[in-house]
Amino acid sequence: MQDVVEQAANDLVGSRYAIVLTGAGISTESGLADFRGPQGIWTRDKQAEARAYQRYEMFLNDPGAYWEEMLSTVGTQSDFYGQMRKAEPNPGHRALARLEQMGIVKWTVTQNVDGLHEKAGSRRVMHYHGTVDKLRCISCGLRFGIDEVSLEKLPPLCRCGKPLKYDVVHFKEPIPSDIMEAAEEEASKCDLMLVCGTSAVVYPFAALPRIARRGGSGRSSMRIIEVNAEPTPLTHEGICDYLIEGKTGEILPAIAEAAASRLSQGRKRG
Ligand SMILES: [Zn+2]
Repeated sequence: MQDVVEQAANDLVGSRYAIVLTGAGISTESGLADFRGPQGIWTRDKQAEARAYQRYEMFLNDPGAYWEEMLSTVGTQSDFYGQMRKAEPNPGHRALARLEQMGIVKWTVTQNVDGLHEKAGSRRVMHYHGTVDKLRCISCGLRFGIDEVSLEKLPPLCRCGKPLKYDVVHFKEPIPSDIMEAAEEEASKCDLMLVCGTSAVVYPFAALPRIARRGGSGRSSMRIIEVNAEPTPLTHEGICDYLIEGKTGEILPAIAEAAASRLSQGRKRG
């Protein structure tokens, strides 16, 4: 494994514009349950999964009922939310923040709604599937902090008069267009993409590594590196250049450490 870790550090230090994609795999190591894994929230509770599939439609048809349902299941008063607020970033999150502080990682695009990248110190984070800490207007796109909005009368309303929903993107809900465009732009701009803890099978998120692979002109130096517990479609389809197999909480710190020592050696040689 050491060889590929060194290679990843080398590629990162040599990159012009590196971005990171992350998924549930990086947060399960912080003790947060994923949805579809063996102990996943929906693996254990099929009814919760069925409800989750109906949520967006429910919001469109009856925002008041949506809010009642959300507050009792995944809203701010629920166990789910409480767990997420209590979760702490793990060494994988911190390693990515460190790579950002070194000036290597320019953006982290995450599918996770838990806010752990920010807790770890990352500043440039795109929440592809929204975040539990915000509410969003699907009509005008405005977002509000969860504490900025009164929930005494349901549904809460946007300044434009339309009902607000949680920022978290539900099934069958389109990805907010501002995030989708920004993420696609980063994917087509980067010359290195580090994919961590995601099998990248859920579209349109899964399109991002493929956009990076297709890229524009002069992209022969494009590198896509995967850090995952096991091979994924990205591995099988040859989208990524190589896979570092194992825990993100162990591999990413090793990569960040190797990158830091390369940077300091480079400076000494000056
Ligand atoms: Zn609005």
